[in-house]
Amino acid sequence: LGGSISRAIQQMSNATIIDEKVLNDCLNEITRALLQSDVQFKLVRDMQTNIKKIVNLDDLAAGHNKRKIIQQAIFNELCKMLDPGKPSFTPKKGKTSVVMFVGLQGSGKTTTCTKYAYYHQKKGWKPALVCADTFRAGAFDQLKQNATKAKIPFYGSYMESDPVKIAVEGVERFKKENCDLIIVDTSGRHKQEAALFEEMRQVSEATKPDLVIFVMDSSIGQAAFDQAQAFKQSVAVGAVIVTKMDGHAKGGGALSAVAATKSPVIFIGTGEHMDEFEVFDVKPFVSRLLGMGDWSGFMDKIHEVVPMDQQPELLQKLSEGNFTLRIMYEQFQNILKMGPIGQVFSMLPGFSAELMPKGREKESQAKIKRYMTMMDSMTNEELDSTNPKLMNESRIMRIARGSGHQVREVMEMLEEYKRLAKIWSKMKGLKIPKKGEMSAL
Ligand code: GDP
Ligand code: MG
Repeated sequence: LGGSISRAIQQMSNATIIDEKVLNDCLNEITRALLQSDVQFKLVRDMQTNIKKIVNLDDLAAGHNKRKIIQQAIFNELCKMLDPGKPSFTPKKGKTSVVMFVGLQGSGKTTTCTKYAYYHQKKGWKPALVCADTFRAGAFDQLKQNATKAKIPFYGSYMESDPVKIAVEGVERFKKENCDLIIVDTSGRHKQEAALFEEMRQVSEATKPDLVIFVMDSSIGQAAFDQAQAFKQSVAVGAVIVTKMDGHAKGGGALSAVAATKSPVIFIGTGEHMDEFEVFDVKPFVSRLLGMGDWSGFMDKIHEVVPMDQQPELLQKLSEGNFTLRIMYEQFQNILKMGPIGQVFSMLPGFSAELMPKGREKESQAKIKRYMTMMDSMTNEELDSTNPKLMNESRIMRIARGSGHQVREVMEMLEEYKRLAKIWSKMKGLKIPKKGEMSAL
């Protein structure tokens, strides 16, 4: 897939004169690739039409960087298609919000409910889980197990068969307990489909959720549009979460879900575990959709932001799969040197949404400096190690003392390192392009 796009763009950049035929050929290749990524046919066609309007052939002929213009246009167009134009309802900490999850059975609702609760709990919220799936045997047990593991209060019943009654009881109880995020998990299957949608409508009417989240399995394929639309017609879907992004599917169905529900994607699920959950970030998502992995733009950017003399060594280390604390330190140094952070590094996987949220650059910068002071108190062995077990309690305490920080803060920094190391481990085995021989997108 990635190959076909690379090839298409390659062909294009080899052509001495860009004419309409070359542009068409390129678009056709990309169309095929996007269809394979499960992007709906109609949406691909729309994109194609828009690209033709945007890309001015005269501009191309005038000798601007042709490849870049077309690439950027395609990339931007896909980003735009993932943006419904208005943000979803965002719950506020300390204020009660009810969030209802809907989606087909197996899409990952119950798992994602817990991830969503856990994500907020880590940030100081008081979430709670309500199991309103009375259809699937074992549904309550599953939610109970997840909730217990994460130490999140839950509500459900083995006896009661009315999902509306349970949902209402659960929501009422947690409102009394002053929980600020009450999450209602629902069923995803019924003997008759119509009955499922009627049940969703009733649960929604009874619990009056502030937000309904549609959970979609990334491997659902072309069925995504109809599925999302069916849910949207029964309940007021206001956000989308795409699960199983750790699998092979590229998640093109997300474009359909956004189009059908007119709602943004807010998170993605990247594994079965509670913390395998990421804030949705449109650029890496689109890169992946185009078959470029999370690393599209990375190679281009790294040439722009990492000092030339550091590049080969850094890339070499990364391709060996060794993302050490020292590498993190050096990248932090680069970030601080680069000025308006978040802009330059917004395309580097892991460095954008989580570490440096938009509009909070000052805070992020202070945090990065704090992390660097802690790392200054580390030994060379610690900085160069790829073994997380090395960082035992006594070492963490020593670093905290040495740098004048709390143990909790050092642990937070190490968590950040682990998160980045996991993302950057995908660099392992990557073919290192030479300067000028950049990735296709
Ligand atoms: P539900 O029927 O919609 O409630 O779906 P579940 O939450 O029970 O999930 C169905 C299966 O998908 C379970 O085996 C989950 O562990 C798995 N699952 C959910 N989210 C993810 C994810 O992001 N990645 C992977 N690999 N598996 C997931
Ligand atoms: Mg479930």
